[in-house]
Amino acid sequence: MSVRLHGGKCAVAGGAELRMLGGMALVNENLLKLRASYLFAEISRRVREVEAAGTPRPLIKLGIGDVTEPLPESVRKAFASGVDELAHTETFRGYGPYEGYDFLREAIARYEYQDRGSQVTAEEVFISDGSKCDSANLQELFAQSCTIAIPDPVYPVYLDSNVMAGRTGFWSGDGYEEVTYLPMTPQNGYVPALPQGKADLIYLCFPNNPTGAVPTHEQLRGWVEYAQANGAVILYDAAYVAFIQDESVPRSIYEVPGAREVAIEMRSYSKTAGFTGVRCAFTVIPKELTLPDVEGKRHSLHALWTRRQATKFNGVSFPVQRAAAAIYTAEGQREVAALVQHYSANAALIRDTLSAAGVAHVGGEHAPYVWACVGGDSWAMFDRLLRQAQVVCTPGAGFGPSGEGHIRLSAFQSRAQVEEAMIRLREVL
Ligand SMILES: *Cc1c(COP(=O)(O)O)cnc(C)c1O
Repeated sequence: MSVRLHGGKCAVAGGAELRMLGGMALVNENLLKLRASYLFAEISRRVREVEAAGTPRPLIKLGIGDVTEPLPESVRKAFASGVDELAHTETFRGYGPYEGYDFLREAIARYEYQDRGSQVTAEEVFISDGSKCDSANLQELFAQSCTIAIPDPVYPVYLDSNVMAGRTGFWSGDGYEEVTYLPMTPQNGYVPALPQGKADLIYLCFPNNPTGAVPTHEQLRGWVEYAQANGAVILYDAAYVAFIQDESVPRSIYEVPGAREVAIEMRSYSKTAGFTGVRCAFTVIPKELTLPDVEGKRHSLHALWTRRQATKFNGVSFPVQRAAAAIYTAEGQREVAALVQHYSANAALIRDTLSAAGVAHVGGEHAPYVWACVGGDSWAMFDRLLRQAQVVCTPGAGFGPSGEGHIRLSAFQSRAQVEEAMIRLREVL
């Protein structure tokens, strides 16, 4: 039943009117606007059902975007030494800075940005326990009235967290009423076109999850110019930047002139360095990024986020930040490159198999995901691969309306598992 609130009454679908309840705790109605199930919960349900009935051979999971290879040795050592520091009176530390330790913020500013020609300072880097939370929490910086534009298909968190925040309106059958969807289709090479109308907050994810698509500098410049012209803010999720193989592909939104006035960038160690279970990420908010209040007075988002974090966050565990900093040592860089190389070679195997079977696809080149254009109902294809090949993929429809007709195959697996999965796919495709 869908319920809409109008003033002091609520109109129930079907026309009946009820007096609004008061004087007791009520749930947040926005949470009720969420669609039935989180994509990966539905996948697990179907997988469990098939496993319970018994499968002829063990399933191979190329579905959820979780890494499989262990932490790099340099990271493990730094992690352990961070724990040792906490275990001795002389080196013990309690609460750390809300924004993160300087040793990590400085390494990020230098190695991720300054050495590549982007002007980001350590002060502009906020260490966090994940880009999932950052991408959801950053909304607190913006007025409730902000309109949003979201790529379609995309990582489901941007949309669902906006539903919970009350910025989307209701589900209308093929999308949320108040969301501007930015379709990524074979026609536009899976890089979305600029919105027709006006959007205040624009989510971009490159290299993209799920399509693996990357933009050109020219295309990114178009987004920055749109944001400048419309007083919009870009929330740029670059969780997969480490997978970019080619110097011509943009790694940061800040490679575009003027981006410092309009864009926030998020990065995560989850996929780069095997940190999905360790939890460490960072967000960059440039000092030049300001937004007006209703009276037109401009405010620094950097200052407001600092205040927000100080109130709601007590920082990332010290040993975890030590572990993350080890990524920027020479040994760490070598090990992370080897991890990325492992997954990229898996992606190449997946692409070769699809090519040989004549299945159109994108991604896998600068991202650990291959996006296959299989046509038809993507949940039906999911079920077919699950039951006939005992391979778990992710149905494209779960990432947005334009994901229909596609499946995502993840390269996050051991080589042996990917090789075996490809033998099976060749049999059924
Ligand atoms: C995996 C992923 C993240 C990482 O989230 P963490 O909370 O840092 O693990 C962020 N964005 C996208 C698009 C992802 O696929």
